[in-house]
Amino acid sequence: MDIQTLIGKIQNYNPASDVARIQRAYDLAASAHAGQMRSTGDPYVTHCLEVANILAEMYFDEDTIIAALLHDVPEDTAVTLDTIRKDFGEAVAKRVDGVTKLSELRLGMEQNQAESLRKMFLAMAEEIRVVIIKLADRLHNMRTLFARPPDKQRKIARETMEIFAPLANRLGIYHIRRELEDLALKYLDPTKFDEIETLLADDKDDQQAYIAQAITILNERLAEENISPLDLSGRPKHIYSIYNKMVRKKRDFAQIYDIRAVRVIVNDVRECYVALGIVHSLWTPIPGEFDDFIAKPKDNLYQSLHTAVIGPAGKPLEVQIRTAEMHEIAEFGVAAHWRYKEPGSKHSAEFEQKINWMRQLVEWKHDIVDARVFLDSVKTDIFQDQVYVFTPRGDIIEMAAGATPIDFAYHVHTEVGNRCRGAKINGKIVPLDYRLKTGERIEILTAKKGGPSRDWLNPSLGLVRTARAREKIRNWFKHQERAEAIADGRAVLERELHRSGFDLRDKNFEDLAKFFNYKNADDFLEALGHEDLSATTVSVKLLEAERAKHELPPLELPTVRPPLKPPETKIEFGGVGNLLHHLAKCCNPLPGDEVLGFITRGRGITIHRRDCPNMLNMDLERERIINVDWRKTDQAAYPVLVQIRAFDRAGLLHDISGVVAENGVSMSSANVATNKDHTALINATLEISSADQLTRILAKIDRVPNVIEARRVTNA
Ligand code: MN
Repeated sequence: MDIQTLIGKIQNYNPASDVARIQRAYDLAASAHAGQMRSTGDPYVTHCLEVANILAEMYFDEDTIIAALLHDVPEDTAVTLDTIRKDFGEAVAKRVDGVTKLSELRLGMEQNQAESLRKMFLAMAEEIRVVIIKLADRLHNMRTLFARPPDKQRKIARETMEIFAPLANRLGIYHIRRELEDLALKYLDPTKFDEIETLLADDKDDQQAYIAQAITILNERLAEENISPLDLSGRPKHIYSIYNKMVRKKRDFAQIYDIRAVRVIVNDVRECYVALGIVHSLWTPIPGEFDDFIAKPKDNLYQSLHTAVIGPAGKPLEVQIRTAEMHEIAEFGVAAHWRYKEPGSKHSAEFEQKINWMRQLVEWKHDIVDARVFLDSVKTDIFQDQVYVFTPRGDIIEMAAGATPIDFAYHVHTEVGNRCRGAKINGKIVPLDYRLKTGERIEILTAKKGGPSRDWLNPSLGLVRTARAREKIRNWFKHQERAEAIADGRAVLERELHRSGFDLRDKNFEDLAKFFNYKNADDFLEALGHEDLSATTVSVKLLEAERAKHELPPLELPTVRPPLKPPETKIEFGGVGNLLHHLAKCCNPLPGDEVLGFITRGRGITIHRRDCPNMLNMDLERERIINVDWRKTDQAAYPVLVQIRAFDRAGLLHDISGVVAENGVSMSSANVATNKDHTALINATLEISSADQLTRILAKIDRVPNVIEARRVTNA
């Protein structure tokens, strides 16, 4: 192939083409790539020429041919895209740029990457012609793959099989798909490939004779029905298809029908069915092998009748029947849309209608559809649910349409999402509610620490569009709340256990959690933090357990038992003193007598009979009288030593003893010491009948104004 041959070929199908312009493009490619060699040893420009030639064979327009000639120039040479734009215009530059961008794609780790990449080709390309140039590029690279090292051969062959062949299929460009698949197979399974090639070669004479015979018979019968086919010939072999049938369907070579295959091209749809009838009347159809792709076209618009029969000499024969227009679609697919057509050529509006693949959305009045509109319709039609964006490393990420930078950040990694503070699109900072578009390169700006904002979950702000990101944000907050609850729970529990006189240093919350039927300490503390479990319940249980262990004896009689209501008179009580009670000598009260307590200065409480004259004359010091009662002997109580620290104030002890009394607890002794810093330390013995009562009373004392802390003290 040289440039003259290529130009001649183009002139054949497009006499109006600008020969000088094509020549100039070739000259630019040749000079830009000067000195570069292919691994085959050929000058690099031969590759450009071959790629352009593949497109010329598909009758592509001049700009596409020129773009093909220049497709590797910006990437591999010193000549820039701007130069190309200046010399050949925007359309050419865009296509070259598109091909360059497609070359930058890398395969990442994601499993669906191949599928994403395939979609990407369709969705991101400014126009489908870019993708077709890329396919031609790959086709030529595959044709010269023999010159590459074996590891590259396998890698490139696999990529071709996984991405480029399916892409050609998607676009309906059958002849490229067929060649790509066969070339790839050659490197992916060389043994099997050779085997099939040998089988085909051995059988070749036989096949040719057989097909010639079938064609003769068929031609005669068609003529009888006044049908003169435009073409009736053997169909090219597709080794990969034979391979698939042998390997996947586990059939013998002899059982594969398309080894002997003919293709009939007739003038219209009616003739297709007539021809089918003839084939079926000549030979016995093989059940299950008939497909009517005319009535039900494939997604890529492929139309044809397929059947398989027991042909001459009892050997299977595959027959494909289609019109010329169907054949063009079958071979060129979407590319047929851009195939150069002479003005007034016979391609009718009907043909256009068929070939404008997935173009139902486009209005008919436009004879030639703008490529962008076409592509937009393709995008809307198939890819409306997705956008494809690049990571800074060039990986492709598939996102739901409408996705924002935050969605993207969470898609990449939860931590990236949590710390997302901004984003750059193609290097420019954008707001966080920005909607990602296909083909954009996105970079997330993150904070070193921190989490998402509550605003992100506000639907009216539109900052997060994907369920996945929303879920992760919610989880973060849930987790955060849990952490807070755990911290709260720990504080409450520690305060409570300290108050109940437990040593926290070796408190194992894991054991406690188990004891309270929680899975682990965190769950246990979280429950405390949420107040699903109260800290006093915990300390009550611990106190009870401890009590059960020690079996402390009940208190001895007698002792004071304040009734529920202390007298309303205010008792001034200050200073230091032993609050141990003693019975008044003046009236000698006995258990069962109605009694009153008199708070003495420094000698604790004196118990008097209620009718004691000394008490009746106590008007000036009524405030020092408290109600007391004999403790009931049958009540099992045990002494608990309690220490109260408080900022000293007038009435402190009175308030405390009032609280104790209100709760039906006896205070059998109290001892107050005031320090220089005006704190008072009260050591009191409470007669406690249950752990429950103890924790309740301690909590209440804790709430008395000026009390810093009230806690049980253990014998130490
Ligand atoms: Mn190339």
